[in-house]
Amino acid sequence: MPDKNKADIHRSEQRPEFWDLSMRCCQLAGAVDICFFLIFLWLGSPILAWVNVISVAMYVYAYQAFRRRRNYLAVMLIRIEVLVHAALGTLLIGWDSGFHYFLLMFIPALFASMHRRSAWIFAICLWAYYVGMYVLMWFVEPLQPIAPKALLYVNIFNFTVVFLMFAYLTMYYVVTVTRAHRRLARMATTDPLTGLFNRRHMVALTEKLLAREHREPGNLSLMLMDLDHFKEINDQHGHELGDRVLERVAELLHTQGREQDFVGRWGGEEFLLVMPETDPIQAVAAAERIRAAVQALDWSDLQPGLQVTLCVGISQLDEQESFSSAIARADRALYRGKAQGRNRVEQAVSGEVDPAQADLLT
Ligand code: GH3
Ligand code: MG
Ligand code: MG
Repeated sequence: MPDKNKADIHRSEQRPEFWDLSMRCCQLAGAVDICFFLIFLWLGSPILAWVNVISVAMYVYAYQAFRRRRNYLAVMLIRIEVLVHAALGTLLIGWDSGFHYFLLMFIPALFASMHRRSAWIFAICLWAYYVGMYVLMWFVEPLQPIAPKALLYVNIFNFTVVFLMFAYLTMYYVVTVTRAHRRLARMATTDPLTGLFNRRHMVALTEKLLAREHREPGNLSLMLMDLDHFKEINDQHGHELGDRVLERVAELLHTQGREQDFVGRWGGEEFLLVMPETDPIQAVAAAERIRAAVQALDWSDLQPGLQVTLCVGISQLDEQESFSSAIARADRALYRGKAQGRNRVEQAVSGEVDPAQADLLT
């Protein structure tokens, strides 16, 4: 086996689910071969029965090799077993035994464990092996034929196993891909520290909301929040503690929103809560509740005596107003709160547009 193929197998080590699946296949194939051993003993074909004993031993060895992370050895053992077993079964009791179906199981495994080009080369070799066996059996009589009815049962058993293995394999791949897709989507849309939506996703969600709904002006509220003197918390108690503070505030914000609201981390120690169907009076009441809840948080387990507060700037999207302009107004309201002593809620002035701040989203 050239080094490249070895490298292919090693490359798929980065995908533990592939090896997990290979180990399960090993167990399944071993169990199937134990069934074959009993079937062929019963049918009076001792040679084939003993072939299956060797096969079971090879699967046990391959399984152990997988456990010891000797993946290359394990894969080679499985390949040899399947190729030789299919050929021997076909030669001994004929093409109609259906042992050749097992060769088809190789195809998904090749593409999962190898570089695409190597996989195609191996797939073509496999096809040639398959055709070679088929043509050979046109000219050669089976060496140890069994009764036609027994042959029928063996064939049904073989394709049933292959059907089940394919179904299992497909299901496993679909589940794995779906899981990976979900994980990637979560990584792309959430902030790793707080688990809240990230800024990019908040923009996308709000833009989607605005595009979908014919909104009444003043009915979509934005609540921009910024922790007070957070730099001092970091400087006095360390960045680690700062992170814990961000996590705990985020947790609180997550529980404060209603079902239709969505909350995200807008920047370092800034958060944004988007509240659909919320007028200015309701928004101010909600912001006051949040401000008071943050002030009342108990930090004694992290840093006795620590006090954390925040300022909130609220704006409602005016008719035809863009999201970035409404954010800019909320930001200006927020900084009015900072200037007035912090730990405050400030409502933005409707129609107050500062073109210099309209690029805040970028
Ligand atoms: P103000 O009351 O005016 O908002 O003051 P401030 O200190 O909160 O604001 P400033 O912008 O001066 O400092 C924000 C600090 O937040 C600085 C930065 O190091 C810190 N910060 C940003 N992201 C993180 C983070 O992920 N973890 C921690 N621990 N600190 C962060
Ligand atoms: Mg800030
Ligand atoms: Mg701050």
